[in-house]
Amino acid sequence: MRGWHIRVRGLVQGVGFRPHVWRLATQSGLAGTVLNDAEGVVIELFADAAAQARFLAALRAGVPPLARIDSIEVTEIYALAPKDFTISRSRAGHANTGISPDAATCPDCLADVFDPQNRRHLYPFTNCTHCGPRLTITRKIPYDRANTAMAEFSLCAACRAEYEDPADRRYHAQPNACPDCGPKLELVDSAGKSVAGDALQKAASLIAAGNILAIKGLGGFQLAVDAGNHAAIARLRKRKHRPAKPLALMVRDMAMAENLVQLTGIGRALLQGWQAPIVLLPDKGKLAPSIAPGQACLGLMLPNTPLHHILLQSLASPIVLTSGNLAGAPQIIDNEEALQKLGQIADYFLLHDRDIANRMDDSVVQMVGAAPQILRRGRGYAPAPMLLHKGFNGLPPTLAMGGDMKNTFCLLGQGHAIVSQHMGDMDKPDTQRDFHANMGLFRQIYEFTPKWVAVDAHTGYFSTRMGESLAAKAGLGLVRVQHHHAHIAAVMAENGLPPDAKPVLGIVLDGAGYGTDGTIWGGEFLRTDYKSIERLAHFPAVALPGGDKASQQPWRNLFAHLRAAFGAGQSPGLVLGPLPVAAELEAKPLQMLGQMIEKGLNSPPASSAGRLFDAVAAILGLCFERIAFEGEAAMQVQALAEAAPDEAGYYPFYGSGLASWKPLWTGIIADLGEGVPKSIIAKRFHNTLNRLIVQTAIKVSGRASATQVVLSGGVFQNRLLLAGVKDDLEALGFTVLQPEMFPLNDGGLSLGQAAIGALRP
Ligand code: ZN
Ligand code: ZN
Ligand code: FE
Repeated sequence: MRGWHIRVRGLVQGVGFRPHVWRLATQSGLAGTVLNDAEGVVIELFADAAAQARFLAALRAGVPPLARIDSIEVTEIYALAPKDFTISRSRAGHANTGISPDAATCPDCLADVFDPQNRRHLYPFTNCTHCGPRLTITRKIPYDRANTAMAEFSLCAACRAEYEDPADRRYHAQPNACPDCGPKLELVDSAGKSVAGDALQKAASLIAAGNILAIKGLGGFQLAVDAGNHAAIARLRKRKHRPAKPLALMVRDMAMAENLVQLTGIGRALLQGWQAPIVLLPDKGKLAPSIAPGQACLGLMLPNTPLHHILLQSLASPIVLTSGNLAGAPQIIDNEEALQKLGQIADYFLLHDRDIANRMDDSVVQMVGAAPQILRRGRGYAPAPMLLHKGFNGLPPTLAMGGDMKNTFCLLGQGHAIVSQHMGDMDKPDTQRDFHANMGLFRQIYEFTPKWVAVDAHTGYFSTRMGESLAAKAGLGLVRVQHHHAHIAAVMAENGLPPDAKPVLGIVLDGAGYGTDGTIWGGEFLRTDYKSIERLAHFPAVALPGGDKASQQPWRNLFAHLRAAFGAGQSPGLVLGPLPVAAELEAKPLQMLGQMIEKGLNSPPASSAGRLFDAVAAILGLCFERIAFEGEAAMQVQALAEAAPDEAGYYPFYGSGLASWKPLWTGIIADLGEGVPKSIIAKRFHNTLNRLIVQTAIKVSGRASATQVVLSGGVFQNRLLLAGVKDDLEALGFTVLQPEMFPLNDGGLSLGQAAIGALRP
């Protein structure tokens, strides 16, 4: 009999790892101990070499659902073997247990909930070590019940017995609850008056009858209507002032999903994973187009709590499930506030008495070819730490503030990056409040004290100013990071590139980011490592007449683009000829706008790919006046192109490359004049951009001396463009890195800022 010290690192705390080890050892009749400490889990095992090897193989093979092993180190120890195997208390002085992401109901709990003999039959708050709420109920650490929103509920004898039994699935499950001792539902009308009867059954019948139901979900309030009821959807859109933005759906099961969307193996796996995100999948057109107007995909998710499972079981059709908030503001999490603010929107409220300690949006994932790509990282994914290349070990702890849109922050230290959940747009006071609260909680959870603060180079960002004042107050170093540098570095970090990685060619297609020359960038070819950037090529800079207004009103970009391509002397009427869009554009105050551009008044030049898409949308008659949500115009152009045949061709660029968009506009205008279908024009535009990007990449890659290409930036959320450029570059022998687990939109900025900040020159 020999003794072994087994060190396990990874996501191994608060996920049922110790009882898992206990069961394995006990089953094999091995003695020893297992405990948590600051670095993960330590096992002392007494076994001969063969039994030890079998134990380790079983340990790796049967990891609990929420756990992840990053590494196992084994050293021999010389000690007396104890009689049996025990779970020891966590090592004193180390409260660093981390918090795992919230997990969708596991199959075992689901079976409990739908078993009429089970004491948790139809209990909407059933959970265990393998599933249930985590960060959303955590108030502070250590992660013990008393420090969560479950503190108000004391365990009944039956639940306590489960909680204390290492052989039980609910051993140390902090949110463990049952109908006798746990949270309870209440259904009320919009005046707050209680509705009698079984809350869930009643809620289901109210939805079926066409009502709008506000539901207190896992990470925030949600609004639900019957997805088969056009009138109810229209009412929800009207009351929520959300005319066009796609609405997500929740389906009861995979059969219902198969009926609505086209599914591949990866699509199925994403839907059914314990993260249970919203997955964007090709629409089969079975439901009302008003759910996702002008889109090729539907956003679908499966139920993620027993509450949602039970509700959906009682309904014949899927439900629209969208966040319960006022336009633009973050999701509401509080009962009182919901009744107050959503009273004009929802007809009924399904409430409960477990607080939501931390707001958590649903995550959104899309498929690019066969690869998943997280567009919004919240429930199920945050705050799982990401292991960086080992060269990041021992660097000074760095806090990155993110950007102002789709904000996240990032803590980088001890070789890991921890990115917060998606919080939203920083110009909203609620988002800023969340930011401070989450930052405080994360710093406590991870015992994190930064040495450096990294911010965007844009001095006007709220996030930048907050970072500046934080650094000034605490006497920390401040690092300003160029926006697109951060976009690229995030992908480098996610792909495990070492701190001294050779430069890559970073291609960023973005809406807007502050450039090193003081202009706005957004169509960039950059030679980049973690420490420096060099701008090799960029899209032609075109004025943004009216500044911020230009990103809301596509016609402004059409005007600026035509003016830049054909000259100030050529009026749009002349350039566009008899096209109907000519008259629409001529009706705008073009003379004034022209003068503004001429004089450089509130018309900054921008090499923005996003605004190019807006201009193309406008000429195609999509969102000409204004967009209803960020990215709408680009999404509509993409959806049009997705409907076109594969061999649509492209516009010649006469060898002018990135000198001017004139050949592109000449081609589009000629096509429109000849009555070419708009979907073909949209596809030709995509193909042209694709070719131009690849051609430019070839041209500058020599100067970049890079064979690795990174693709990032919000405009690359365009699946068509991303997959096309990637395939073409790979066919040419480039290695293409793209983000998967972190958003390529501004939600991923903080990760890149943190990597650059920690390695600042
Ligand atoms: Zn469970
Ligand atoms: Zn109980
Ligand atoms: Fe960006």
